[in-house]
Amino acid sequence: MTKATHPDDIDLSPLAAIHARIARAAALAARQPDAVTLIAISKTRDADAIQPLIDQGQRVFGENRVQEAQGKWPALVAAQPDIRLHLVGQLQSNKAEDAVRLFDAIHSLDRPSLLTALARAMDKVGRRVPLFVQVNIGNEAQKGGCAIDDVPALLDQARTADLPIAGLMCVPPAQIEPAPFFALLGKIAADHGLAGLSMGMSDDFDTAVMLGATHVRVGSALFGARAQ
Ligand SMILES: *Cc1c(COP(=O)(O)O)cnc(C)c1O
Repeated sequence: MTKATHPDDIDLSPLAAIHARIARAAALAARQPDAVTLIAISKTRDADAIQPLIDQGQRVFGENRVQEAQGKWPALVAAQPDIRLHLVGQLQSNKAEDAVRLFDAIHSLDRPSLLTALARAMDKVGRRVPLFVQVNIGNEAQKGGCAIDDVPALLDQARTADLPIAGLMCVPPAQIEPAPFFALLGKIAADHGLAGLSMGMSDDFDTAVMLGATHVRVGSALFGARAQ
C-alpha cells in the first residue's frame, strides 16, 4: 500500500512525505487531496520541536491535554496567528471553558454532560467551536467515545442546544485491520448528514483517507516516536 517507504518519498521531509501519502491515497479514492486536513499531533512535544513544522508551513495542530496546550501554544499562536488548534483528547467538563477559549475544534464530545458543559462554555465565552462526536467504533470496554447506539441522541441534544457538529471521530481497535471501522464511521456520519470524518493516525491514515477521512491526526510519523 501507500507507505512512507514509497520510492518517490525518499528525499522528502516527514511533513512533505505525509502530504504525498495523503495525495496518493486521495487519488486512489478519486478524492481531492485538499479535502483532507492534516492535524499535526504535537502532544508531549515542546516548542522547539513544533517550530520547524510551523516554519515549513504546517498550521493545524492537535493536543490531547488542555493544560499542556495552555502551557505551550499561546506564545506560538501569538507569533503565528493563523495556527488552528484541535483538541483530540478526553475532556473533563470542568475544563470545557478553557478548551473553548483555546481550541478551534474539539474532537472528543462523547457524553451528554460534556455537551451541556460545552454549550454553557460557548455561550459564556461567546465563541462557537466546531465539535466532533467521538464514537467508540469497536465497542471496546476500556475505550473512550460514545457508544454507536447513543450517537443519535447525542446529535439530537447538540441540535437542540444549537451546537456546531462538524462530524464524527474515532480511534479504531489496536492490532486489527482498521478499514471496516473507518467504513462504519463513514456510514454513521452519512446516515446523519455529517460531512466531517476525523480518523486515521500515523499507522493507518492512508487507509482512512481512502475511506473518506476529512481530518487525519498524525503524531509520531511527523515528530518521531514519543517517549514512553
Ligand atoms: C496521540 C494521538 C494521535 C496521534 O497518534 P500517532 O500514532 O502518534 O500518529 C491521534 N489521535 C489521538 C486521539 C491521539 O491521542
